[in-house]
Amino acid sequence: ENGPGPVLAVKELRRHFGGVRAVDGITLQVESGSIHGLIGPNGSGKSTLVNVVSGLYPPTGGEIRLQGAPVTRLGMVAMARAGVARTFQNLQLFGELSALDNVLVALHGAFRMPLPLLVAGLGRKEERRAQADALALVGLEAEARVRARDLTYGAQRFLELARALARRPAVLILDEPAAGLAHPDVLRLMGVIRKVHERGIAILLIEHHMDVVSELCHYVTVMDGGRMLAEGRAQDVKRDPRVLEAYLGL
Ligand code: ADP
Ligand code: MG
Repeated sequence: ENGPGPVLAVKELRRHFGGVRAVDGITLQVESGSIHGLIGPNGSGKSTLVNVVSGLYPPTGGEIRLQGAPVTRLGMVAMARAGVARTFQNLQLFGELSALDNVLVALHGAFRMPLPLLVAGLGRKEERRAQADALALVGLEAEARVRARDLTYGAQRFLELARALARRPAVLILDEPAAGLAHPDVLRLMGVIRKVHERGIAILLIEHHMDVVSELCHYVTVMDGGRMLAEGRAQDVKRDPRVLEAYLGL
């Protein structure tokens, strides 16, 4: 359904907090169906960029386009409806609800229907199917009826991913999805990311495990101090002296 060209285009984007230039003129394009890595040292502005692109914070300046359409100041709910899905560095689940109902709530967007009605099973048939499909995509079908708070930490992270996928976004933004995961779960995560990619969903992946980035990403943007330090293919970027210096202080 996505034509050629970028699904997400960010131009000269800035977000300042008082004197802090968290994002200070970033231009990048996520090509349709690609996995685009976003890396950089702690505090380089990656999460802020994602927060602006997903509509959580308005930008200080610059432009955002989604499938060619201007979406610069849409806000979170409208951005989600337009096709941008994201996960957070910190989990945002409803602990008392089952895995399945957590996905259902995500599917309905914020609060278009009162929660008790939602969880009473009034979801339509196609929504039920989308829910089950999202859980299957992340390998949580066996845990569908388990309360979110009773899931392991790793399973909770996969549930968050299922919630983001439930609406079949055009672009999925993942902010350090491997953080805190044990090695087997990191491998499982990489498998899920590949499956999402095979469905034609573009992915913007913030990740500091360089091996995960070079394994998965077609293209990588490197940020430092709110600005773009380098960009290119993963295998080239990770040998770039400027990137090595920013990471290792060489
Ligand atoms: P990264 O995700 O690359 O580690 P962040 O985007 O979280 O970087 O942070 C970039 C800079 O912006 C940091 O100096 C951080 O302290 C600052 N920052 C991020 N969010 C806020 C905020 N809501 N208010 C003030 N400063 C912020
Ligand atoms: Mg961050």
